[in-house]
Amino acid sequence: MNHEDLQHLNVHLAKAQASATYRMMDHVAVRRAAGARVLSLSAGEPDFDTPVHICDAAVDAIRAGHTRYTQVAGMRSLREAVAAKFQRENGLDVSWQDTIVCGGGKQVIYNALAATLNEGDEVIVPAPYWVSYPEMVQLCGATPVIVTCGSEDGFKLTPQALADAIGPRTRWLILNSPSNPTGAVYTREELAALAAVLLANPHVLILSDDIYEHLIFDGATFHTIAQVEPRLISRTLTMNGVSKAYAMTGWRIGFGTGPRWLLDAMEKLQGQQTSGASAISQHAALAALTGPQNFIAESRSVFEQRRDLMVKLLNQAPGLTCALPSGAFYAFASCEGLIGRTTPAGAKLNTDEDVAAAILDEAGVAVVQGSAFGLGPYIRIAYALDDDALIEACRAITSFCQLLSQENHAVAE
Ligand code: GLU
Repeated sequence: MNHEDLQHLNVHLAKAQASATYRMMDHVAVRRAAGARVLSLSAGEPDFDTPVHICDAAVDAIRAGHTRYTQVAGMRSLREAVAAKFQRENGLDVSWQDTIVCGGGKQVIYNALAATLNEGDEVIVPAPYWVSYPEMVQLCGATPVIVTCGSEDGFKLTPQALADAIGPRTRWLILNSPSNPTGAVYTREELAALAAVLLANPHVLILSDDIYEHLIFDGATFHTIAQVEPRLISRTLTMNGVSKAYAMTGWRIGFGTGPRWLLDAMEKLQGQQTSGASAISQHAALAALTGPQNFIAESRSVFEQRRDLMVKLLNQAPGLTCALPSGAFYAFASCEGLIGRTTPAGAKLNTDEDVAAAILDEAGVAVVQGSAFGLGPYIRIAYALDDDALIEACRAITSFCQLLSQENHAVAE
């Protein structure tokens, strides 16, 4: 878009970046359409098919004529199932009126931010962060306050860093555990320590993005802040969805629970905006939440094995180092050892964006640069492919790194 066209846009949108994850997915699609073979470790979505009973429920819904509008905040039956989920899995004592269903987790988050933020408000976003949080904040005219949480802190926000970041204009803190892109998981004790800071700052709302709740490894238990500190319930939006738990990214169903004033505002916004989520997808989500749950444990176990495989293989690539993530399906590898080198095709790797571009061009593997998530030089690798594809991708990445090393070695000699 050229400068003149930008003038037609809303000022906040004109400043915003397109989603880096979607940009990489688009690059992959363009290359594949041109006949190239690309192994995509870029998209953050499970590679499994949606379980059959969920698909059947959607087909049945269509055939039964459930093809009309639903209530804006979602079908009552689904909201009851969402409330039951929050009770069963998170120990949150909520009723269906305390829930909202939206078109994907993204819409839950965006609705909440758009419903509450004004110019000059601040939102604390721990980095590395999911690419869309700061952009959404800016789209709402507010300011993201990025708090960098490095590998020395396990990529997690410390109570001190939180306390330092809170100011009089802070409206929200966004928490995401397990994290996209690092897979970091907050323990109960860590959440309790953050909660203590939040209790001392009653003007701060908390958005807990729990979308990767079920992808947590090594037998660890998932905790969400409203459960850990019930005194925060009245100002916490706990959001989740079916995308990652039931391999339903394309169905676009997210949901949340929070204070009624907030849910009412989100519903008002949604009613003027999309009218709510697809009726058919809502029936599918109802089947997901109320039907057999064995898919969750099965996919967790597959992802845990892949994590072990990936971290082992990535650490064999010269120039990459990767800590063992505790959850989600991402490896977040430092590529510091590649910075400053030159590829066989002559590309100079000055940034992690250069690294991701060169891995795509020269190794045929799509990953996303860490700087898009607020921390470089890293690359995010989504291990949502089968083992053979992951091994092939790691081989390609390793030989890419080896060629850089050899070249530099030769130069040094
Ligand atoms: N959350 C996924 C990711 O990070 C899907 C793409 C997106 O919405 O950013 O890759």
